[in-house]
Amino acid sequence: MAKQWNKKRIGIIGGGQLARMLQEAAHPWAVDLHFLDPQADAPVSGLSKQFVQGDWQSADAIEAFGSTMDVVGLEFEAISLEGLERLEAKGIACYPGSKVLSIIQDKGKQKQFLEENGLPTAPFHLLKEGSSVPDVPCVVKLRKGGYDGYGVKVYKEAPKVEQWPPFSGELLIEELAAIDREISVMVARFPDGSSRYWVPTEMVFHEEANMLAFQLCPARISGEQAQKAQELAAEAAEKLGLIGLLAVEFFLLKDGELWINEMAPRPHNSGHQTIEASYTSQFEQYVRILLGLAPGATKNSGASALVNLLGAPNAHGKPDYSALGGLFKEEGCYVHLYGKTEVKPYRKMGHICLLSDDIKGLEQKAKEISTKVKVTAGK
Ligand code: ADP
Repeated sequence: MAKQWNKKRIGIIGGGQLARMLQEAAHPWAVDLHFLDPQADAPVSGLSKQFVQGDWQSADAIEAFGSTMDVVGLEFEAISLEGLERLEAKGIACYPGSKVLSIIQDKGKQKQFLEENGLPTAPFHLLKEGSSVPDVPCVVKLRKGGYDGYGVKVYKEAPKVEQWPPFSGELLIEELAAIDREISVMVARFPDGSSRYWVPTEMVFHEEANMLAFQLCPARISGEQAQKAQELAAEAAEKLGLIGLLAVEFFLLKDGELWINEMAPRPHNSGHQTIEASYTSQFEQYVRILLGLAPGATKNSGASALVNLLGAPNAHGKPDYSALGGLFKEEGCYVHLYGKTEVKPYRKMGHICLLSDDIKGLEQKAKEISTKVKVTAGK
């Protein structure tokens, strides 16, 4: 007899904030997901009784964790590929699977995949370690191991030889895109091959620092551009053969063209506002996929802004959330804290989602909060 839907054993590799929000989404159905994370005090550890401490970079740890599961998912892509392959060889469904991950883990392979499948992206070439370098404006990226802007260097002018290379490792060199806006589309793809996507989110960056300031949803782009981005994102998920979630980040160029920047096969920061601003959140949708349930509606219930709550520039130690107290006075402001036991400079400690029908007002408020509100270190 088939297992009841809510009795399936679902294993999630990773126990950070994305895992925590996944468990929060499974909670109303009284489902405890299982989690694997090396840190005993990982953000999800206090939320699920099914928490296993172990290294996601070890194939043995992933195999041991996943072997007793019906389905395995993830919140983080830099895990042992071999571990996932061993699970698949045992017939355990992995959403996303190892083939998708092998492309995504390497920014060079991602670009080749996009090019081979006719999906628009910045022209690029791959450099072996130590090879000679172009002296033109360009963007240099580490193929593996970069995150949140680390491992990316944007040269608006031709780089000086002494600045080169900015990282050690295999590199991807991209043409400098003439960016008007950066947007992201979340897609969910179900085991039957059907897809659902959400309204595009706009990522607004700090003018000087190459860092995200806040996000707005819907993105301030035309209806045709939104539709084109959604179609491209769904096409990328289908061509990857992915089951699960895919965040597709785009550059909207000054001439109106869309280029795919990069993709992540998991819940993503650019989809956090779906918790309050969508009929179904990205987290609930992923839980539905993992449990084998029907898709939820992805319509927006209103406009939203999202601000990450980061550690203050010099904060080291136990987090102190005093500066956040005032946020509760804001109308339509939803505060999420990730339960991290230590604050570090610029570490993501939580986020807030603001809801309002007035997108101009949202932008103003998000800008203000993102510059003023930081998590400090206390006792
Ligand atoms: P990460 O994976 O660390 O988030 P990204 O590849 O998204 O790194 O790059 C970080 C940021 O650098 C982008 O959001 C964008 O602002 C800028 N950037 C990346 N690639 C290009 C490019 N080809 N042209 C211009 N800017 C770029």
